[in-house]
Amino acid sequence: MRRLFFLRLHSFVYPDKQMFMTITQQLQTAGRPLLSVEFFPPKTEAGRATFDQTAVELLQLKPDFVSVTCGAGGTAAGPTLEISTQLSTQGYRSVMPHCTCVDRSRDEVLDSVDEFVAAGFNNIMALRGDPPKGERYFKPAPDGFRYAAEMVAALRERQPALCIGVAGYPEKHPEALNVDEDIRHLKEKVDAGADFITTQLFLNNGAYFEFVDRCRSEGITAPILPGLLPILSLEQIKRMRTFCDFQVPSRLLQDLEAAQDNPEKAERVGLYWTVEQISELVEGGAPGIHLYLLNRAQTIFYPELSACLARVRGE
Ligand code: FAD
Repeated sequence: MRRLFFLRLHSFVYPDKQMFMTITQQLQTAGRPLLSVEFFPPKTEAGRATFDQTAVELLQLKPDFVSVTCGAGGTAAGPTLEISTQLSTQGYRSVMPHCTCVDRSRDEVLDSVDEFVAAGFNNIMALRGDPPKGERYFKPAPDGFRYAAEMVAALRERQPALCIGVAGYPEKHPEALNVDEDIRHLKEKVDAGADFITTQLFLNNGAYFEFVDRCRSEGITAPILPGLLPILSLEQIKRMRTFCDFQVPSRLLQDLEAAQDNPEKAERVGLYWTVEQISELVEGGAPGIHLYLLNRAQTIFYPELSACLARVRGE
């Protein structure tokens, strides 16, 4: 019922589905790095309240696009469409739903993307998805896609006009044997039709710049948007490292350890780090900044960070 309501509201507010530029078109025409934010569908009532508040507050950030995860961290896939539609109706100019292959046959994945397109979305983040909690290896569903590259190829055929994003891993995907092998598989996704790459979070910009150089020397020309987590504490970093691989630079680690008994100081240490990361990435030619804000707006309103993000938007 709620979903139907949002779908109707969406087509009322945005009757012309073609009025939105794809992310590729934005990358080509913006003349500056894009700013984007990732949301996830809330799992609890309290999470819903936080999400609703954050969705209103983050409009002030004027992101060029926002994305909505699918099934990440145990959330079901269904709410992605509802949350994406809600964000569109609230005034976010471009919303990209994520779609994974977990527990779904090829037809189910393709049907679900058709549904996104029918609702007016012209960008999709195509992902394989993680193995279920406690399992080490991904097992495709019967007649399911084994790798994201297979999904991208099928999507490109089914929806030729769709702008497709894929995931990249500056510090290697945990299942990959080494970075070279992982980049070869990333190239398969781009060759299959992906338009741009968004990276896993990293704290060391050197890892991103080296990754971009290696991708370019392998013939990957697609834009590579760096994914960043504004850090609030050492605890947060430890939590994030339980499900993604990234190095913590020793200077940051020492400063966060020294501030462990003072949460405000730890937040300042983390956010200054993020400001430095963003400034250096933009100076180094990154085509955008993608923020993993974990459905919270609090970090964005730190004066140093909001000033830095305003500079990214060319203000
Ligand atoms: P793939 O590109 O298929 O790669 C998975 C692994 O298989 C890699 O190790 C790769 O090297 C290897 N591989 C690829 N092709 C082959 C081949 N032909 N032969 C052998 N090995 C191969 N997860 C969610 O559940 N929901 C989300 O919304 C979500 N959003 C994300 C957004 C971003 C920007 C990022 C970086 C990650 C996101 N994830 C999400 C996590 C992602 O689903 C996991 O990292 C998942 O384990 C891999 O997905 P993938 O699309 O990168 O897979």
